Amino acid sequence: MSGARLLEGAAIADAIGRRTKERAARFQARHGRPPGLTVVLVGDDPASHVYVRRKEEAAAEHGIAGRTLRLPATASHDDVLGVVRQLDADEGVDGILVQLPLPQQVRSDEVLAALDPEKDVDGFHPINVGRLQLGLPAFRPCTPAGIMEALKSCDVPLSGRHAVVVGRSHIVGKPMAALLLAADATVTICHSRTPDLDARCREADVLVVAVGRAGLVGAAAVKPGAVVVDVGMNRLASPHDDARAQELLGQGTTRHARYLEKGSALVGDVDFRAVRPVAGLLTPVPGGVGPLTIAMLLANTLDAAERRASSWSASG
Ligand code: NDP
Repeated sequence: MSGARLLEGAAIADAIGRRTKERAARFQARHGRPPGLTVVLVGDDPASHVYVRRKEEAAAEHGIAGRTLRLPATASHDDVLGVVRQLDADEGVDGILVQLPLPQQVRSDEVLAALDPEKDVDGFHPINVGRLQLGLPAFRPCTPAGIMEALKSCDVPLSGRHAVVVGRSHIVGKPMAALLLAADATVTICHSRTPDLDARCREADVLVVAVGRAGLVGAAAVKPGAVVVDVGMNRLASPHDDARAQELLGQGTTRHARYLEKGSALVGDVDFRAVRPVAGLLTPVPGGVGPLTIAMLLANTLDAAERRASSWSASG
């Protein structure tokens, strides 16, 4: 298939990972312990368990002491808050990540606000959110931060360019828009109430799509030569999604054959086959943005560890 150059996150994530590993080794040599990342996982959400296992494995591979505190789905709001407060006070913990979503009875906003902002490696604490908006140093949410690293490593110019972000979640859309704005792009944010989405998207030199709808963005929404970043991760499952899978993966392609064999496939929010001939640079799903998120989480953990260590040496 000709058209857009592919922006594959794995190589960029590897480069970030190599730096993190070196930093972790230096930290261990200097402080006699590895940097520590603790994940709080509440409940039985299968996707969350998969993500957390990947984070644990990645931490171990990079010389970070990762551990997960698992709480049952029945844990109360106060139970979760209590765990977070203990971790805040634990000197051996440099980074804390509360895996979302939390069960209904647990008020996520309050839990995130209870995190020590200096250990908030996901960048969701209101202080980090505010600092990001103010252009001050802050922990940047991992997925948008990874996308910025990827755009930088591909020399994508942002200053004065028009960036359109589709999706306004706290996790991806809003921080993505803030980072693009901080890089001097002119930024438009679209969401479910935006009329004529295709026309808005077509204005983009850089289009970032974070919605969670398989193939939402097609060729008619892309300016020729645009940079298109697909954050979406949508699982198509047989037999319910057979028609959509055939459309998006293309009948007779290797990916479609694999879908038929496995009974499922992961696709993005961008109709890859339709958009590739139009775009200039495009992230595939899987293999585009995905690998960058964990790489940035580990890099943020090292930032947290080094910052805390330098504040101990400054204070004593
Ligand atoms: P949310 O569900 O929190 O937000 C989705 C956003 O999309 C909302 O702002 C919503 O608008 C908007 N939206 C919904 N339907 C439409 C539509 N038809 N047209 C325009 N906008 C629409 O999702 P997240 O931001 O958490 O995640 C988005 C996607 O990115 C998901 O597929 C998720 O799995 C994936 N993801 C991938 C990561 C990775 O590492 N690769 C990390 C995080 C997420 P409104 O606000 O009006 O409801």
